[in-house]
Amino acid sequence: MILATPESAISDVPHWIHFFGRNLRIRRKNINPKVQQCAQCWDFHNPRTCTRQPKCWLCGAKDHTEQDHKESTQQCANCLGPAPADHANCPVRPSIKQGILVWVPKTQVAAIQRIEARQQQALSSKTAEDGNQDKQSDTDASSENTAVEAVSSPTSPQ
Ligand SMILES: [Zn+2]
Ligand SMILES: [Zn+2]
Ligand SMILES: [Zn+2]
Repeated sequence: MILATPESAISDVPHWIHFFGRNLRIRRKNINPKVQQCAQCWDFHNPRTCTRQPKCWLCGAKDHTEQDHKESTQQCANCLGPAPADHANCPVRPSIKQGILVWVPKTQVAAIQRIEARQQQALSSKTAEDGNQDKQSDTDASSENTAVEAVSSPTSPQ
């Protein structure tokens, strides 16, 4: 059974409904969920309600924007990976599974950021040596989930 309710009436919808002698759980389902990304702070939220400090699209720094970005390095504001903030295979980008927007848990985001930060460190010290470090190959969207799962086990603290 599907009931359509306007967004404003969502809070009036009960969590359970008694229906033909059975208790049925009401599940919210957005009909057309979309991953929104803010072009100001690059977080995954509605840009119109953003009150945060703008971040650089290329490196995630708060003290400048991409127009004033001088360095050649790139760092995603979300996963800290070596890419602009809206790269398609960002491991912390929410995904849509069976019509439901699925967020990467905060603890997992933190784990991903730790790993990426460490990789960046290793990379920058390596490139200083030989200047010919292989870039991580660009992968398609299907590898997004495996990237998330790969870090779900806790990493040892450094
Ligand atoms: Zn924002
Ligand atoms: Zn920058
Ligand atoms: Zn990213």
